[in-house]
Amino acid sequence: MSDRWVIHLPVTAPDLHRARIFARTAARVLAQLSARVEPGGVTVSAEDEQCVRHWVFCDRPLPHGRGRCALSAEHTSPCAPRPPWLRRP
Ligand SMILES: [Zn+2]
Repeated sequence: MSDRWVIHLPVTAPDLHRARIFARTAARVLAQLSARVEPGGVTVSAEDEQCVRHWVFCDRPLPHGRGRCALSAEHTSPCAPRPPWLRRP
């Protein structure tokens, strides 16, 4: 067994758009509390289709080793780096 544990925290929202907003907000708040948040792994799903996951963050790798994109999964602007408060120590 791994020495890491993953928190599954059901939070409901009325639709996919607001679920993504809540999930991004929760990930960012937890990151500020120094929890080891992996934004690229954050997903949301319909309550009755939990096997169909929707990404919350883009998380594409940025060129020149600049980390990963911190924007929402559905963003249309160019990818951008993770703000300092979301970077891992
Ligand atoms: Zn991106």
